[in-house]
Amino acid sequence: MGRCIALVVAGGRGSRFGGDLPKQYHLLRGQPVIRHALKAFGEHPGVAAVRPVIHPDDTSLFAAAAQGLDVLEPVFGGSSRQESVLNGLESLLSQTPKTVLIHDAARPDVDSEIISQVIKALKTHPGAIPALPIADTLKHGRNGLSVGTVDRDGLWRAQTPQGFCFKDILQAHRQAAGAELTDDAAVAERAGLSVALVPGSEENQKVSTSKDLLRAERRQAKETRIGSGFDVHRIERPGDGVTLCGVKIPCDFNLKGHSDADVALHALTDALMGAVGAGDIGMHFPASDERWLDADSCLFLEKAAQFVRQRQGQIINLDLTIICEHPKIDPHRALMASRLADILGLELGRISIKGTTTEKLGFTGRGEGIAVQAVAAVSLPYPPADT
Ligand code: MG
Repeated sequence: MGRCIALVVAGGRGSRFGGDLPKQYHLLRGQPVIRHALKAFGEHPGVAAVRPVIHPDDTSLFAAAAQGLDVLEPVFGGSSRQESVLNGLESLLSQTPKTVLIHDAARPDVDSEIISQVIKALKTHPGAIPALPIADTLKHGRNGLSVGTVDRDGLWRAQTPQGFCFKDILQAHRQAAGAELTDDAAVAERAGLSVALVPGSEENQKVSTSKDLLRAERRQAKETRIGSGFDVHRIERPGDGVTLCGVKIPCDFNLKGHSDADVALHALTDALMGAVGAGDIGMHFPASDERWLDADSCLFLEKAAQFVRQRQGQIINLDLTIICEHPKIDPHRALMASRLADILGLELGRISIKGTTTEKLGFTGRGEGIAVQAVAAVSLPYPPADT
């Protein structure tokens, strides 16, 4: 159906947002708002190219925000949104698009389904826009009083991208210069073009205020990952004590191991690595490596926490079960939990440490070794963050 080019309009100053930084360059989920929009169109198979329209003061901001993305050179906008769109459209003449999608850079959460729907509707209409029906009752207000109810039947909230046949919308915009219309569909309607409505989405909201940005931040879908870890270390007698969760507990034996033999931290490290698919403790800290001889196992846990952070994950909770007859775990639980809270920067309420015995059965019951089971739940962005 011919070449389709997306025009991402970012010429505004965002006066409702406050501060000096225009809203389209604020960070949302670790990336500038505009980058989310540029990526949505750049990655869509129906879009051949993306033309950004920016403010002349924002060239370096834009360069940083679009770094590494395959987009056309930006062009400068004008003193109004309408002028900016016209500048963008004029710049596309040499690109000979058949259709154009005009999108507000401040709508970062446009999804590929909406883009596809608009493109599809352009096969049968010269214009198409995503829109949502109005659910709330509409009121006429005067002097702080509600003085009438508006029939909402047939009323829609318009979003972007607004798609058009390129020649039609270019001509319509040229003719509408100076007419002060609030969106491109209004420009098309003024020129008598028929504009189809396709379903928009609640996520495809415009970020106008810092509260909108917060809401968009919270809309990030998350998935919960679970990891489990299990470890055993052999008991050696005589000895002077064992280290569990970084806490030295005096008793009449030691645990045998290459590192400090903190069996609890080893199980927990494996659980965290397992939750984010980062391998296991033996892979990152092989016992064959002399560097880890007598190592403080807190190092291993810190590494696991680093893997979680790299994936922009957050630990939801940890649950450890230490299985042995001796030493008794209960008197040391609070200190162990606060050690883990310190290492991981986690609230105590998210950490659980339990001790149990195997009723004198098996190797733990006979006092030959200590076993630990660990479970970790981690919240990760979905789809996964760029790493
Ligand atoms: Mg171990």
